[in-house]
Amino acid sequence: MTDESVSEAGRDFIRDIVAADLASGKCKSVVTRFPPEPNGYLHLGHAKSICLNFGVAEEFGGRCHLRFDDTNPTKEEQEYIDAIQRDVRWLGFDWGEHLHYASDYFEQLYAWAQYLIRAGKAYVDDQSQDEIRAARGTLTEPGQNSLFRDRSIDENLDLFARMRAGEFPNGARVLRAKVDMASGNINLRDPVLYRILHAHHPRTGTAWNIYPSYDFAHGQSDAIEHITHSICTLEFEDHRPLYDWFLDNLPVPSRPRQYEFARLNVTHTLLSKRVLTELVRGGHVSGWDDPRMPTLAGLQRRGVPALALREFVKRIGVAKANSTVDIGMFDFAIRETLNKLAPRRMAVLRPLKVVIENYPEGQTEELDAHNHPDDASQGTRRIRFGRELYIERDDFMENPPKKFFRLSPGREVRLRYGYFITCREAIKNAAGEVVELRCTYDPATKGGNAPDDRKVKATLHWVAAADAVPAEVRIYNHLFATPQPDAANFAAQINPESLETLTGCMVEPALAGDKASDAVQFERQGYFCRDRESTPGKLVFNRTVGLRDSWAKVSGGG
Ligand code: ATP
Ligand code: MG
Repeated sequence: MTDESVSEAGRDFIRDIVAADLASGKCKSVVTRFPPEPNGYLHLGHAKSICLNFGVAEEFGGRCHLRFDDTNPTKEEQEYIDAIQRDVRWLGFDWGEHLHYASDYFEQLYAWAQYLIRAGKAYVDDQSQDEIRAARGTLTEPGQNSLFRDRSIDENLDLFARMRAGEFPNGARVLRAKVDMASGNINLRDPVLYRILHAHHPRTGTAWNIYPSYDFAHGQSDAIEHITHSICTLEFEDHRPLYDWFLDNLPVPSRPRQYEFARLNVTHTLLSKRVLTELVRGGHVSGWDDPRMPTLAGLQRRGVPALALREFVKRIGVAKANSTVDIGMFDFAIRETLNKLAPRRMAVLRPLKVVIENYPEGQTEELDAHNHPDDASQGTRRIRFGRELYIERDDFMENPPKKFFRLSPGREVRLRYGYFITCREAIKNAAGEVVELRCTYDPATKGGNAPDDRKVKATLHWVAAADAVPAEVRIYNHLFATPQPDAANFAAQINPESLETLTGCMVEPALAGDKASDAVQFERQGYFCRDRESTPGKLVFNRTVGLRDSWAKVSGGG
């Protein structure tokens, strides 16, 4: 992608609005926020929102807050608060001193609820949740006023204070705004501002027995923090009139505006915290950072660089209509990023032993291999060659079809960075399976070039038995085989082949020395990283993404 198309793709309706507001003086500097609820780990969809909020602030010289929307203590945990901060930092963003919590504002929100009561715009309702729901009406029918709607201000103040003091059980009463039970927008039909919840809160402990609703907390938190552009996903569009109603009816210190954009959906993926939580709790995956998970923690563990995520988000852009992005676009961004960064290594995932009959027993030699074909600054390394090698099982066929150019009896191929070898014989076990190849090499082809310009049609990767290191390699496929999984019935759609564990792989020794966090390319296979479960005695690699067959084009190998 050229710089020009990047900057073109970098403009969208949100950035246009911000640019116009700054130009007209409507706001002096832009202030955004990313407002996660700490009830799970962040996922790919959140990355879009993070890149948008932090990106806009960065590009227009403003700031972005990280604010935890911690208004529902029954689902929220410190573990999630910590993980979210880690993941936002990992993505490459920094909120500076602006780490905030809705719970920081509980006292102010309470005072504003009293303010609405005093203004005759809020009341305590004794109806149960079910009764409230039943009286709310439908899209075509208006709602019914509650019998408690016209309580006196004094009675409302008294009951609200006693709700706070913990005098009533969960669900006994709520505080509602008095807006309009006949409104065409159901969100305006006397929405709930506070509910009774005797629950321990990760930050306020047992100080509160009532908690504000999302709608009552969100806009006012924005106003307290002087957020100028409150960017959220489309499902909140119908909440905007309520967001504005609170700001119009409360003595708030600033006037934020809400803008909605389309959430990210990706094929073969479910981006719902409810589903992700159930995948973890139900043991369908090994944890929040299982490399098959679309969580930032999972992607990181799979070896996806933060840069690739940011690049992907930039390319999909920001729109006002929901759509689903092909996961291939994400893989493409990962591949493109890693292609530039990742040093090349050789690893044989399904080894087949090769004995070079005319190479002296007990002898080995070192050959030069470059670490990156297009980046000389990554240097070279020495790799060992000897009489016994491993090649990929798939690179040999006893009776090859027409288009198969790799090794077969009598056929000559090139070993990458090594020599030309010719297969003389395939040794089989009692079951008739090929267990070893007897080959010869041509000493005049060192480095992979024949003096007589003799051509071969395939180049194979390999490792020398003398110093190969055994490893386990985990290959990941889509967690959901179907492109549009159904969230309601996700468990039945989990791909039984989403994890393939290969043991007995043989990798070149440099891979034991590379830093665990470093991405590498296994030549002809894909991009991999060392898993955190690796120990000095047992190497474990994750496949980040396959290569596709770009190698075939380059090498002419079939
Ligand atoms: P879920 O609906 O799965 O429970 P959520 O949207 O409620 O997730 P929050 O923690 O409230 O999760 O989200 C924080 C922010 O991230 C919100 O502004 C939300 O709009 C945004 N966000 C969540 N999912 C996506 C997505 N798929 N694409 C873009 N933004 C998203
Ligand atoms: Mg939410």
